[in-house]
Amino acid sequence: MTSPFTLGWEEWVAFPDLGLPAIKAKVDTGARTSALHASVIEPFGPANKPQVRFLIQPNPDDLSLEFTCSAPIVDRRQVTSSNGETELRYVIATHIKLGERSWPIEVTLTNRENMAYRMLFGRTSIAEDMVVDPNRSFAQPELSFDLYKQLPKRKPVRRPLRIALLTKEPENYSCKRLIEAGEARGHVVEPIDTSRCYMKIGARVSEIHYDGEVLPRFDAVIPRIGPSITSYGLAVLRQFANTGAYCLNEPNAIAASRDKLLAHQMLARERIGMPTTAFANSPKDTKDLISLVGGAPVILKLLQSSQGKGVVLADSRKAAESLVDAFRGLDAHFLLQEFVAEAAGRDTRCFVVGNKVISAIQRQAAEGEFRSNLHRGGTAEAVKLSKEERAVARRAAQTIGLNIAGVDILRTSDGPKVLEVNSSPGLEGIETATSKDIAGQIIQHLEGKVRPLSREAFV
Ligand code: ADP
Ligand code: MG
Repeated sequence: MTSPFTLGWEEWVAFPDLGLPAIKAKVDTGARTSALHASVIEPFGPANKPQVRFLIQPNPDDLSLEFTCSAPIVDRRQVTSSNGETELRYVIATHIKLGERSWPIEVTLTNRENMAYRMLFGRTSIAEDMVVDPNRSFAQPELSFDLYKQLPKRKPVRRPLRIALLTKEPENYSCKRLIEAGEARGHVVEPIDTSRCYMKIGARVSEIHYDGEVLPRFDAVIPRIGPSITSYGLAVLRQFANTGAYCLNEPNAIAASRDKLLAHQMLARERIGMPTTAFANSPKDTKDLISLVGGAPVILKLLQSSQGKGVVLADSRKAAESLVDAFRGLDAHFLLQEFVAEAAGRDTRCFVVGNKVISAIQRQAAEGEFRSNLHRGGTAEAVKLSKEERAVARRAAQTIGLNIAGVDILRTSDGPKVLEVNSSPGLEGIETATSKDIAGQIIQHLEGKVRPLSREAFV
């Protein structure tokens, strides 16, 4: 007869579903249910499919090792612990691995400090054919916390993610699609009104408040911050980053993309092609400024323009001078740019996700209009990019530091010229024209970026 599967009074276990390779457990047949000691235990997701997200510090002697987990909630139960305290706990179902064996168990989550064992192994988790030998320690093979250091850094997470979608317009096409695509891949995407967030900033706590309550922790945040609230939106985004959330686009990169002057200077430094651009502070230099970009016709752009709203074309030198004067009179910040007439109201929007151009459309301005923005009545169709265009779009996004970017280029006889790098590119035009699931690709990219180890997070 083979000897039965034996458990000592302490054992090393692993939770493959939770991504935890090593936890030291105390086997306690006096306890009914198994318990895992976690912190920041927060439920999320729809009522018919609730999930719970929590943090685990697997090694009681190294609290800097912190791990984020999530799992489906199967129940909520009153549990009385050995010290007589009763607590309502979430119950999750997950597989446990011990030596050669792996089997499903139910575990309650509890936040009790100073527990030498992160897991309490209760009797309902012990299979019928197993025996417990209370005189033995580690009857099964021993593991080590070093296993956490060997976890693959680049492997996409498989657990359900709690994602915040920072936007003032959760109903617009792009937001609706991102929510849909996240849910289709098993995540929960919660729209949060950027302008309604307020914050508590401190060395020990980083909190985001909303309607009188502290917001929960998120694994990732997708910023869709409109130009009307860039500065405040970026402060909110930084706060999310401080609470340990991964930002799909970093605040500094968004700031650079929003400032046309800064963005052009960064691109120029990398020798990325662009229409010749000029900028001056003093009215004395207006004439020379216009000459610098080759004279009329010339384009004036407000530094914070978007959707083509702050872009005007001056046909003659006289018109250009008056426009410059008018802008100055309004204290507006703007740049001057050579008008690329050969583009003939067409530009190419290259959609960059990570290090790849995943799709592109060509936009044609409406009759009598030089701005091809879809908001200005432009039309879009799918377009195939040249190798050079792909490379330029990729480099432009990288230079600004954006993971997700809409890089607009003009096709010229002198090669592709970058007009701007957009940090919240709209999805409607490109998904409609190309029939591609761009939102899905964005979520997939995000999965590869969220790290299970959240060392930087404040607890
Ligand atoms: P916005 O951020 O407001 O969209 P852009 O710089 O992208 O500003 O300009 C809007 C549109 O105007 C572009 O999509 C393009 O069609 C046209 N345009 C902008 N700059 C030039 C230029 N230098 N030459 C020709 N057309 C231009
Ligand atoms: Mg544009």
